[in-house]
Amino acid sequence: MTPDFDAIVVGAGPGGSNAARKLVRSGWKTLMLDRQRFPRLKICAGWITPPALKLLDLKPGDYPHTIQPFASGSVVLNDKYYVTDFPTTASYGIIRTEFDAFLAKRAESEGATFLQDVRIKAIERVDGPEGYITVRAENGQSWTARLIIGAGGTGCPVARQWGEKSKEETIIQATESETRIGADVLKKLTPYYGTTELFPEPDFYGYAWYVTKGDWLNIGIGRFSHKTRQLDEHRQPFMELLRKLGRLNGIEDQLVGFGRHAYKLYDEVPRKLFGDRFMLIGDAGGFASKWAGEGIRPAIETGAFAAAVADEALRAGRFDAQQLSKYRQLCDAAYGEQKQTRIGSLLSNIPASLQKSLGTMVCKSAGLRKKLIFEVAFGFEPVTE
Ligand SMILES: Cc1cc2nc3c(=O)[nH]c(=O)nc-3n(C[C@H](O)[C@H](O)[C@H](O)COP(=O)(O)OP(=O)(O)OC[C@H]3O[C@@H](n4cnc5c(N)ncnc54)[C@H](O)[C@@H]3O)c2cc1C
Repeated sequence: MTPDFDAIVVGAGPGGSNAARKLVRSGWKTLMLDRQRFPRLKICAGWITPPALKLLDLKPGDYPHTIQPFASGSVVLNDKYYVTDFPTTASYGIIRTEFDAFLAKRAESEGATFLQDVRIKAIERVDGPEGYITVRAENGQSWTARLIIGAGGTGCPVARQWGEKSKEETIIQATESETRIGADVLKKLTPYYGTTELFPEPDFYGYAWYVTKGDWLNIGIGRFSHKTRQLDEHRQPFMELLRKLGRLNGIEDQLVGFGRHAYKLYDEVPRKLFGDRFMLIGDAGGFASKWAGEGIRPAIETGAFAAAVADEALRAGRFDAQQLSKYRQLCDAAYGEQKQTRIGSLLSNIPASLQKSLGTMVCKSAGLRKKLIFEVAFGFEPVTE
């Protein structure tokens, strides 16, 4: 039989949209599906690095929605701000609701078929040279394709089915609230408007943030799961600190309620990233950076890798695991080979007192803070053009 599509991409986050766009640009009939209707809320602080924008062929000036350039960031320890300034813009802040809708629309306008409000619940595979994938939605609809890209984030149905997720994965728990407050009000609330204000947790097993972007305020906290009983127990003291600093004066009852999300870090507990007729990208493959949890760029980049490998497979008419193994090679070259060690358990083995003193030293030292926190962990990179 001739499948309905060459490729199906499940999930229209930044990873899925980029993969779908690349596939249609290579001439392949591509279906992108999402369980939500866009614009949709996505819990995320929305900091995005210059390389991520480059990977999207997106110049900040051409982006029609909120994009806050960041040329400065600070780390707050015991109520004291340690500020790092960059000579030019070194990172950006976007609003995921706007950004993801823009990228999905762009993929659609370039030729991808984009179906929304479609929750995929099962995927079936018929093996062999004449084989295909069938994707089934909760509403009874189904579609077939030569191959499938799992881009459904943390709960991706393709990863659930074929990703061989391990219980040992290091997971981040995060909670966040994003509210349109108005730039004028925000400028009065913080002298650090338009920057990233980071608040390391007292035990250094996570950090909180207060980020002002255009009219928007994003407040959140993320922590390693294995060191967290109740995330709210950590959010409350952070909110208390923000009140003390005056950052919430007059706006607290306007704040949108906190949402929660969990995601895996690229922590060297391997997931099965590919197999016959499938590849997993972005959060579905567990690609968020182990240092600060940056996940948008890896989603975009692995989306491009998967699309390139899918293009070769479609040209060759071969979709077996061996043909798709190039995807793993590209990921390993970009993110390092996955081995059986875990950043979480490694960190757990460092005595708490040593961890605190190392963390404090890095935050306070201007050189180490710039290099390790802003450049290495958060990917700040001065924009030259
Ligand atoms: C609180 C928090 C803050 C963060 N801050 C940052 C940050 O500032 N910068 C950064 O780079 N990263 C950040 N991240 C990580 C980042 O949000 C993710 O890594 C990124 O969104 C991954 O993109 P993706 O395309 O893989 O998946 P997603 O963006 O999660 O998209 C997956 C899509 O799949 C759809 N889907 C899921 N299941 C199904 C199904 N069964 N059927 C159909 N569709 C389905 C979903 O509706 C969704 O639209 C943060 C994460 C959290 C939790």
